[in-house]
Amino acid sequence: MSTTPPTIQDRPADLLGDLIRFDTTNPPGHEAACIAYVRGLLEAAGLDCVLLARTPERPNLLTRLRGAGAAPPLLVYGHVDVVPTEGQRWSHPPFAGDVADGFLWGRGALDMKGGVAMMLAAVLQLQAAGVRPAGDVVLAVLSDEEAGGNEGAKFLVEEHAGRFAGIRYALGEFGGFTLSVGGRRFYPIQVSEKQLCTLRITVRGAGGHGAFRTQGGAMARIARVLLALDEAPLPVHVLPSVRRMCETMAAAVDEPLAGALRALVEPATTDRALAQIGPLAALFDPMFHHVANATMVRGGVKINVIPSEVAIDLDGRLLPGFGPDDLVAELRARLGPEPEIDLVRYDQGAGEPDMGLFDLLGGVLRAADRGAIPIPFLLPAVTDGRFFSRLGIQTYGFTPMQLPAGFNFLQTIHAADERIPLDAVEFGTRAIRAALEAYGRA
Ligand SMILES: [Zn+2]
Repeated sequence: MSTTPPTIQDRPADLLGDLIRFDTTNPPGHEAACIAYVRGLLEAAGLDCVLLARTPERPNLLTRLRGAGAAPPLLVYGHVDVVPTEGQRWSHPPFAGDVADGFLWGRGALDMKGGVAMMLAAVLQLQAAGVRPAGDVVLAVLSDEEAGGNEGAKFLVEEHAGRFAGIRYALGEFGGFTLSVGGRRFYPIQVSEKQLCTLRITVRGAGGHGAFRTQGGAMARIARVLLALDEAPLPVHVLPSVRRMCETMAAAVDEPLAGALRALVEPATTDRALAQIGPLAALFDPMFHHVANATMVRGGVKINVIPSEVAIDLDGRLLPGFGPDDLVAELRARLGPEPEIDLVRYDQGAGEPDMGLFDLLGGVLRAADRGAIPIPFLLPAVTDGRFFSRLGIQTYGFTPMQLPAGFNFLQTIHAADERIPLDAVEFGTRAIRAALEAYGRA
């Protein structure tokens, strides 16, 4: 009896290993070789590809799996660039794609070559099986997500919007992973994300010769600004999707956690309740507040010159549905009238999510894991979803992973020892394939 060796789409973890071995550290990205590899797989399977690039070494790939025309096209997208590994101590080399202890190790294993491998394998499997989904599946493999998307999603949305005509929903990063809380397995599905809103705060004071004593100058003023920012979180806002997340979780767990989750959605008790939910607080806190972290200080040019101007840059993250003025007003209330506050960059994102695909995706997860409790999830960070939202496309973060209770994958994203359980790559591939097959058939 002869058996044919399984093809690459039936070995998604091997596919992921291949993707990881392309060093696509961004900057500079240089995703072309990785994208060429993906193109090779798709074209060998009979799927035509289009490469669209603002810069030749940083292309984006689009392909289309023909559907039956019974539903609008569905976009499935992921990025193959990764964040740097500089200065990190890894147990396995970050671009080797080592398999050890049930994990595939490497930069991008989670964010998000893992998701790309699942999407790619699912599309290739459908193509190999001759399955026609209800609507076309448009697969986009992108460059430059990690450094702002100028070469990737932003470029496609601004220069090639026609390629996405008729699309209403998309699957992208990040969601469908196991979040073990109170003995239950929740599966957050990302339905919205914060908005990037970076600011610069500038203060001024008397400059002069470093030999003379100074008091109340720009350095001291910026120190007061930093201390004021550090004092407390910004005001609480409770969005409908976050309320739904907390209420779904509260209904599934025991006291006292259930009570704490219910207290979270009452603005008067949110901050107190955050202190009662343990390690979850780090993940949940930014779903209730705008965040503005000072990440850069600019000031001083020479050791013996007192600077007359010092500035800090704030990594500002707005809740969906708000604008830069809302954040500036909250900062003004905290800092008073003196410091100058300037907007550096604002990437407007979507407002409240269109939940139309949530039940379908939740159903896929419940079928894959009988104990799954799907919850909507507001991502505290940003993804390429913000660009596609400008075309009216609602992204669902859906890169499903069934994870063991002890594995907190959020801690290894962008950090050393990024890795994904081998089983999770298989789980995600099956779930994405099931979602593509179920889409449009309800
Ligand atoms: Zn990512």
